[in-house]
Formats: sequence, C-alpha cells, structure tokens
Amino acid sequence: MDLVFRAAAVHRAHHDPREVQVCKLISIKTGGCPEDCSYCSQSSRYQTEVKASPLMDRQEVLDIAARAKASGVTRVCMGAAWREVRDNKQFDRVLDMVKDVTEMGVEVCCTLGMLTEDQARKLDDAGLYAYNHNLDTSESHYDKVITTRTFADRLQTLANVRKTNVTVCSGGILGLGETSDDRISMLHTLATLEEHPESFPVNVLSKVPGTPFADNADVSIWETVRMIATARIVLPRTVVRLSAGRAMMSEAEQAMCFMAGANSIFSSETKVMLTKAVPSPAYDEDKALLEKLGLTMRPPFKDAKPQRTRHNAISGPAGDGAADTSEVASTCCGRDTACQSAAMVSPSID
Ligand code: SF4
Repeated sequence: MDLVFRAAAVHRAHHDPREVQVCKLISIKTGGCPEDCSYCSQSSRYQTEVKASPLMDRQEVLDIAARAKASGVTRVCMGAAWREVRDNKQFDRVLDMVKDVTEMGVEVCCTLGMLTEDQARKLDDAGLYAYNHNLDTSESHYDKVITTRTFADRLQTLANVRKTNVTVCSGGILGLGETSDDRISMLHTLATLEEHPESFPVNVLSKVPGTPFADNADVSIWETVRMIATARIVLPRTVVRLSAGRAMMSEAEQAMCFMAGANSIFSSETKVMLTKAVPSPAYDEDKALLEKLGLTMRPPFKDAKPQRTRHNAISGPAGDGAADTSEVASTCCGRDTACQSAAMVSPSID
C-alpha cells in the first residue's frame, strides 16, 4: 500500500487525478502477421480464431472513429498486423486515414510495426500524434517471447519516431513468464531513454488458445497495481495506459489501478480491443464506471504535440518546412526539458 500512496502523490503532482483518457483501438489490418510474438492471436504461425483480413476501408475507419468520438473517446489508435511498414499504396492509405481522423479532432496513434525515420516523418506530416511500439518485456527475456526481431530493433523504431514530432507510446505485457526483475528492467530501459515515452501501456496477457502462451500463469491484480504504481513513480509525466486485461478486472480493481496512477483506458463499442481474442469493456460501461468514481474524460491534445521540427503540416502548409527545420533546431535541441517546453506550441484543432 505504501507504494500506491507514493505513486498517488506523484500522480497528483503531475496530472489531474480526476481525468482519465478514453481511447479506442481499431484493427485496420487484422491477422496474417509473419512475426512469432508468442502471445499474439494475429501471428500467422499459430492456429487461433482470428482470421486474416485486408486493410480496412477508409470510410469504415472514419465511421468507427466518429462513433468513438461521440462516446467520449479522445484518442484513436489504428493497428495493423505488419512486421514493418513498407513504402507502398497500403501505407499511403494509412497516411490518408491518419490525416482524416486527426481532422476529426482526436489524437491519432498508430501501431504498424517497425518504422524507418522517413516513414515516421510521413506519419508526422499526416498529423499523427503518437506511435505505439511496445518493448513488451526486458531485453534478457525478449527472446523467450519473440525471435523474429530483436530488442534492439524495437529501440531503433522508438529512436526513429523520436526524431520527429510524433510522441512515443511504449510499454509492456505482464504474464509472459517474466520475473519481477524483467519488469524492472523493461521500466529501466524506458526510464533511461533520453526522453521518457509520453505513453506507457500496461497490458495483462490475454491467454489466447493456440498461442504458445495460452497456458501461462495468471497475473494477480496486485502485480498489475505494483507495475502501474512503479511506472507512475519512475515515469512521472507519462500517461500510464491500463490496456489489455482490464475487462477481467472488477470495478474496485480498476479503481485501485487509477489510484496507483493509471490515467487512460481503452474502450470499445464491440467489446474487443484489437481482435476478439482480447476483450474490452464497452463505452457505456466505462462511462458509468468513470461517473461512479468521480472521474472525467480527458480532452484531446491536452499535451501539445512537440515541435522539434517544422516539417509538420500543423504549423503550415505541407512541404514548406525544409527551411524552417534549421531555425527550430537552433532554438530547440530537443534534449533539455526547458528547451522542449519553450518549443511547444498548441496545435490548431477545430
Ligand atoms: S504482436 Fe504485432 S508484430 Fe507480433 S505477431 Fe502480433 S501483430 Fe505481429
């Protein structure tokens, strides 16, 4: 309990403790992924109930996002089951989706696999607010979970995103057979990056039949609360996102997570997160829960998107940024907190 009290004090010092951001995940391209992440229903290597489907139609994405926004969602996360982003027509379609959903006035996050710096810049230009790429676990436990890409690959994608104005979302999953030391190590990796990730998702393994981790041991609520509280203390300004696994928690357990410093949830009209393998509470249930706990829904863009470079279309017409980049680089090194603050500008969102 002492850890939770300490985390709650840090939380109150850096965040409005009454606010929780409600997010919506959209699986814009489901299944058929060549990676071997041992927990994932979308890997083509495992026999699961999730079937592969092509990239979702743009209008369908916009309709889901519009319904989400009407339900109080202020961040829409679009996920594609890709190993990496390829420079092709599918990526161009994703860029159009990012632009269109951003223009609806919600923060847009993408999770599309590994990303080059150039691709991160294209997403930035389209208006992307955040890029999710989880570390999942510690460096030493990583090859027990995934063998088709390395921990260093993950860090490289985070570094590529960091060279742009897109904020970083990176966290982990509890229940992958890791030890407490692995959890601490993962947090240590993120907490000792040059800049902390703006978002830290805490996921609890959904044991998907057909995957290698289908019979892993359960994660107790106390382990989850401990992870959230520790993350809140070592990443004080980061939004800690209570993600997969919340559907299995009671209202009292969720309240304990909020007290420990979680200030974001994922909600859904279809009661699933990315796929039906991972359940999610519904919009109306979450609205009722937040009201019951005296919590409010966090508005979008509460933290302005950093402006390290001026290539971003938010501050001017696309393509006019090349000359401005050096100007900003000379005034903001992007490394010092005060310097970053001085460079922050509010995005113009109608
Ligand atoms: S977690 Fe992502 S990269 Fe890994 S198998 Fe699933 S969809 Fe592919």
